[in-house]
Amino acid sequence: MPQDNELTFDEALEEEEEQLGPLITNRKIYTKQADAEVDGLYRKHQRNKLIVQPDFQRHFIWDGKKASRLIESAILDIPIPSIYLAEEQDGREYVIDGQQRLISFFSFIDGKFPDGKEFRLTGLKVLQELNTRSFKELDQHMQDKILYYKSRVITFTSESDEQLKFEVFERLNTGSVSLNNQELRNCIYHGPYIDLLRELSKEEDFRYLLGLHDPEKRMGDIELVARFAAFYHVTYLKYKPPMKDFIDNDIRMYRHLSDKDARALRSAFKTAISTIKSIFDKSAFKRYLRGDGDDHNGKWLARQFNKGLYDILMYTFAKTPKNRVYNHLDAIRESLLDLMTHDDSFINAIDKSTGSSEMVLTRFKIWEEHFEHLIGSTKEPRCFSSKLKEEIYRADPSCMICEQRIQTIDDAALDHIHQYWMGGKTIPENARLTHRYCNWSRSKSNRVEIIHVPEKTETRVHSRTLFLGNDRYPCKYAWEILFNTAEWLIQRNLLKAHDFPIQFPGSKRYLVNNNPLHANGKEFFAPKPLSNGLYIEVHAGTEQLLNNTYRLLEKFGVSRDRLSIEEDMKNAAS
Ligand SMILES: [Zn+2]
Repeated sequence: MPQDNELTFDEALEEEEEQLGPLITNRKIYTKQADAEVDGLYRKHQRNKLIVQPDFQRHFIWDGKKASRLIESAILDIPIPSIYLAEEQDGREYVIDGQQRLISFFSFIDGKFPDGKEFRLTGLKVLQELNTRSFKELDQHMQDKILYYKSRVITFTSESDEQLKFEVFERLNTGSVSLNNQELRNCIYHGPYIDLLRELSKEEDFRYLLGLHDPEKRMGDIELVARFAAFYHVTYLKYKPPMKDFIDNDIRMYRHLSDKDARALRSAFKTAISTIKSIFDKSAFKRYLRGDGDDHNGKWLARQFNKGLYDILMYTFAKTPKNRVYNHLDAIRESLLDLMTHDDSFINAIDKSTGSSEMVLTRFKIWEEHFEHLIGSTKEPRCFSSKLKEEIYRADPSCMICEQRIQTIDDAALDHIHQYWMGGKTIPENARLTHRYCNWSRSKSNRVEIIHVPEKTETRVHSRTLFLGNDRYPCKYAWEILFNTAEWLIQRNLLKAHDFPIQFPGSKRYLVNNNPLHANGKEFFAPKPLSNGLYIEVHAGTEQLLNNTYRLLEKFGVSRDRLSIEEDMKNAAS
């Protein structure tokens, strides 16, 4: 049974329509046909000469009713579709089509299903009197009917062309439970490489990241390892759609891989999942959606596995030694969250048609560029650390644009106000917290640098002068405009010591109070003591600071026209 937190492997996510080329006719396929008794097949299976599916116990997906009706058909001597086998070099036969039917027969004879549950007939419509009976409880005649029931068996002999077999199997594969790509690969290319892929799919950390408890029934987990291996071996630069062929080619190429190649792949895979677990933990390979105009809060798509993200993260971290990323784990996580909420080309390249060349190339290129930038610099990156973000968030989780509460820290973006004021100094007064949505919707018209502060902004220094009535105040920082305005009001005896708290409509926060505490008891993030003993909260974005300044003036009956600001921009380098 699927667990609550289990991922869905959405087939719809699977790449664009795949086209099969025409069968090439100069290659040959050899078959033999026979009618085989269930008993004979059963014995062959017992002797390990007929392989239903490696790991087949876990891949039986029929329910009891369906299996029971097959037994009923046998007793009634109704024909069933042909069973297809492939004879291999090792002298064994592998089932290509007919797994579910054969497992049903074998399980009934054994008295139990592969999962250990008892097999008693159920849901029969014609032979109703047999419901609840097990094989042993049937009379001899009925048992014989089943054991000597014949089915047509078509066997592809071992000298057949492999590639061609694969194509033929694909076309055959139209039964009620068709084999998917990975199940087919498993049949045809079984050997050390498939064994390695299966081994890696069982890695504890890998299963943890995928949220899988048991092997995935349809081998989606093994296919993901194969997909990683293909990108790892071939690189995304040489990717050619469809994805299915890209993976097939890799498996064919490495079918008999050397121990050295196996070691390299195993080590790369383990490095990747270990790093990814450190950075993303349970949110690995999941999409983060920013909020929208109605609800500014963003959210994780916690149940949906994103193959595009999987491709780029596995690739990058398989090829980068862990010690190179060790100092940047938080920044890498922030950077990917930022891409998933701000970069529309990137979003497009992980959301839609993830198997097309253009989308593959786009998502790898954008990600690699960001990633290289993050870990490439030898200097301490000049960015707001996650620690600072956490501090600000803990002190006050309000969005500085819409003033509503930001529900989770992952949804909080740290916005730099550098280009307006300060030459990008990374100090709390220069940072504001916003919803990712709010930040994005603003940045559409006025692109704000979110994490990286370009080096050159350091050379720019702004100074500003605040004119209020006949007074002038030089202001180095944005908050000084608000602060000096409050002081100006105090000096004119307008803002008095008993004028607290001051709170504007629509804001949950106090602007002024007699102690540096907001209405909810939280401390002011950037309190400045005023000369009349009150405190003013100056932690806000520039626009909001100006807005509060005007509102404060108007609250005390002073027209906003009496205030003006002169900006002066100097180049510190010159
Ligand atoms: Zn907001």
